[in-house]
Amino acid sequence: MGSSSGARRVSASLLCRWNYYCMHSRLRCSSSTQNATANCQQETALRSSCFRGKQNSEKQQPPAAKIRSTSVGRSFTSWGLAGAWHVGKNLRQAQGYASESGNSKQEEEAEARELMEYDVVIVGAGPAGLAAAIRLKQLCQEKGTELSVCVLEKASEVGAHILSGNVFEPRALNELIPDWKEQNAPLWVPVTKDKFWLLSEKHAFPVPSPFKNQGNFVISLSELVRWLGTKAEELGVEIYPGFAASEVLYEGARVVGVATNDMGIAKSGSRKPNFQRGIELKGRLTLLAEGCRGSLSETVIKKFQLREEAGAQHQTYAIGLKEVWEVEEHKHHPGYVLHTVGWPLNFSTYGGSFLYHMDNQQVAIGLVVALDYKNPYMNPYEEYQRFKQHPSIRPLLEGGKVVQYGARTLNEGGLQSIPRTVFPGGALIGCTAGFVNVPKIKGSHTAMKTGILAAEAAHEALSSMENPNMDAYWEALQHSWVWQELYSVRNIRPFFHHGLLPGLVHAGLDHYVIRGRLPYTLAHGPPDHECTEAAEKHKPIQYPKPDGVITFDLLTSLYRSSTNHEHDQPPHLHLVDKHVPETINLPKFAAPESRYCPARVYEYIANEDNKLQLNINAQNCLHCKACDIKDPKQNIKWTVPEGGGGPGYTIM
Ligand SMILES: Cc1cc2nc3c(=O)[nH]c(=O)nc-3n(C[C@H](O)[C@H](O)[C@H](O)COP(=O)(O)OP(=O)(O)OC[C@H]3O[C@@H](n4cnc5c(N)ncnc54)[C@H](O)[C@@H]3O)c2cc1C
Ligand code: SF4
Repeated sequence: MGSSSGARRVSASLLCRWNYYCMHSRLRCSSSTQNATANCQQETALRSSCFRGKQNSEKQQPPAAKIRSTSVGRSFTSWGLAGAWHVGKNLRQAQGYASESGNSKQEEEAEARELMEYDVVIVGAGPAGLAAAIRLKQLCQEKGTELSVCVLEKASEVGAHILSGNVFEPRALNELIPDWKEQNAPLWVPVTKDKFWLLSEKHAFPVPSPFKNQGNFVISLSELVRWLGTKAEELGVEIYPGFAASEVLYEGARVVGVATNDMGIAKSGSRKPNFQRGIELKGRLTLLAEGCRGSLSETVIKKFQLREEAGAQHQTYAIGLKEVWEVEEHKHHPGYVLHTVGWPLNFSTYGGSFLYHMDNQQVAIGLVVALDYKNPYMNPYEEYQRFKQHPSIRPLLEGGKVVQYGARTLNEGGLQSIPRTVFPGGALIGCTAGFVNVPKIKGSHTAMKTGILAAEAAHEALSSMENPNMDAYWEALQHSWVWQELYSVRNIRPFFHHGLLPGLVHAGLDHYVIRGRLPYTLAHGPPDHECTEAAEKHKPIQYPKPDGVITFDLLTSLYRSSTNHEHDQPPHLHLVDKHVPETINLPKFAAPESRYCPARVYEYIANEDNKLQLNINAQNCLHCKACDIKDPKQNIKWTVPEGGGGPGYTIM
């Protein structure tokens, strides 16, 4: 067990990096002090007032501002009180950390990363990561043990990168915090009506709803996650929003933690005056909870061959585009839930829409498009705009206004695609391994449950093992209701490879009659990137122009995602081979990245010789990860940008 409830070695670096981040984010503070450790405490007060200002001025933001100031303020204060202001030099000396490179002492000091040690390091403050953190601390309270737990979150605030539907099934929350109602969890709107329509271009045909949403709640997942964040903090979890884990740390074949990326590097690669070296966060166990297509998780899955270990197939994905609208009062029916399939997607493209009436006259409306589509001219953003024009949808939105826009990928592989979730030194939890129940479009409850199971295994392992392992989590998972739930729907997504109508018939039979008991498991088709066909096999799709009332151009929508990145930083979107866009993607596939990206990050622009060249507007990136998945040659690698960059969702 860890010796204290905080980090065993604490550095001032996180504080200074927070200053850096604060100064370079849209939540700008006016202070000019960045690096001087001694000024960190003064700046804390400044920042707190900065966030309070934001809180007062932005109606939708209070919970986020609260957790941010609590999180940072409390961590700062407790560190200050404890006098734990070690400079990197002392830390490194204490750990025998000096390099043997022959560099001067000064150079060494500039190069070496500072270190913080915890019992458990969790990457990602989503439902999975926070459920794990909360359960770990609950177990400490129940069993009288002490574990230090930290959670790193790349978003500027907890919840700011969370995008979901969301109709929430409270099963895992009931297990984690049974009195969530008394504790004011933001589950205000029970589902009241559950409709399912098959759409043609002009008509909507009601069909029986397979979703069974009675007892569920229409929520904002970013809001729930912020609430979970406050619960975790109350239990003593240290949460660091604005810190992106960019590297997995290994000792031999064991994962021993993660490192955050360096900050203050210019596009050119040179160091800016505010350069800050990344920090190493070492954990006796590391839990990766990065959500769909986690960048570190993917490297760990490959390194330890976790798919092969579990006999799993590749993961398959969809992209979801979503807006939150404020609609006219008489059109608003809190708890009304609608799903549609069919138009605007053609019958060979898997996907559908969701429309959930939240509280405050708000409606979450979105379209999910499976990324195994063939036609490179398909543009999911434009398909979504078309969907809103349907005669059965448009009247709801008329007279309303868009409050927020965003996009995110989700896993669709289900049980067949779950890798072994355990590796030496840690585990994968939530959607980073892939626990979405696809026919239900729900993964928050399963993500939370996997976090709970991992926490229970971690607590036991840390109590009883010198080199703790997470094998018990993998065992528990396979005997849990998550596994049962995914098993029962495992064939539904593959049925749709034969098209929408055969898929609906088979899925209906499986759901209502066979109830998932087919004696075999169907395989998925090829990975999504391999499904894109040559442009010559398809005709370009003419999408209607936005009307500025119900449909919007992409840049207008992007503005509503509050996306922001420090402009002068190295690109976080890497081309493995820089020639592939112009030699393959453009001539063969008609530049699909300029369409599937929901943020217009990829544009082909004529150069001086009038040749089209790929231009990457990385600062627009919504962190949806579609490019990492769908690029036909897997030539685009998504990595984390400087912590704090990305969308600024509050009610997604
Ligand atoms: C369009 C759409 C609709 C959906 N509808 C529903 C629904 O109605 N009901 C339902 O239950 N589920 C729904 N889901 C699925 C649900 O959102 C996910 O299953 C759930 O969010 C997974 O939780 P998670 O904690 O695993 O990952 P996430 O919620 O993705 O959280 C991961 C967190 O980790 C952070 N992170 C990632 N990498 C790093 C890093 N390297 N360093 C630091 N931080 C990092 C991210 O910023 C994020 O905050 C939907 C998903 C989508 C996309
Ligand atoms: S660049 Fe990639 S991750 Fe970013 S918004 Fe576009 S498709 Fe999504």
